[in-house]
Amino acid sequence: MDTNAVRERLLKRRDELRQRASDASAEARHEADPLSADFAEQVTQREHDDVLGAISSSAQAELQQVEAALRRLASGRYATCAVCGEGIEPERLAAVPCTDRCRTCAEGGNAALGRGARG
Ligand SMILES: [Zn+2]
Repeated sequence: MDTNAVRERLLKRRDELRQRASDASAEARHEADPLSADFAEQVTQREHDDVLGAISSSAQAELQQVEAALRRLASGRYATCAVCGEGIEPERLAAVPCTDRCRTCAEGGNAALGRGARG
């Protein structure tokens, strides 16, 4: 696997997500656009803020996954399943670069390994 290419891709994604999260939170704080004095207008702005908040928190959640993937990459565990310890399928990593588990574990096939014995 070309880990340098993966790393580049993850770093680029991390920058995009950081930018998106900070843009959304700056806009939600009305740094460039103060809250209107008009009540109806304020309601619209607050609804818009909720949307921005959702954008910001989903960007941050993905950012954490990207950072975790970068740490796994640095420690040589990137392509190793965090649940069962088997290798993660290369085509799965290509499709879902931030995943930390193989297809079987992601689909719940090895769920018992993570939680101990069933029952
Ligand atoms: Zn697994």
